[in-house]
Amino acid sequence: MDLAKRRTQEWPVLRSAQEVECDGRNPRSEERCVLGHHQGPHRDVVGDQWLDD
Ligand SMILES: [Zn+2]
Repeated sequence: MDLAKRRTQEWPVLRSAQEVECDGRNPRSEERCVLGHHQGPHRDVVGDQWLDD
């Protein structure tokens, strides 16, 4: 048995939070969320915030 190989396959590759882009869009201005991965309200480049429904 190759335990070392099996173990690496079972662990998902984790990406850092900074690499995960938020795909949220401001419903008022259509600007994209600039926060990346986050919790809570989205925010665009001008500081406007919104929440998903
Ligand atoms: Zn967002």
